[in-house]
Amino acid sequence: MDQPDFYSDKKFCDRCGTYRAYLQSLEHSYCVECGTEVRLFSEQDWEAFHSSLKERRPKGGRPRKDRGKESA
Ligand SMILES: [Zn+2]
Repeated sequence: MDQPDFYSDKKFCDRCGTYRAYLQSLEHSYCVECGTEVRLFSEQDWEAFHSSLKERRPKGGRPRKDRGKESA
């Protein structure tokens, strides 16, 4: 995909309800529009991100060796 690097210079602002340019401080980032602390993803995108991680995990295809103890 030839998309612009959208998420690299914008974060989600709860107050604005959208992705905004932000000011980066040592630990947090703040919306340039309203000064609210912003985060990397909106809640919706965050959940989508996590569910995509879960789906990527193998579904019991390969049993791990260290689980043998449980059934022994
Ligand atoms: Zn804002």
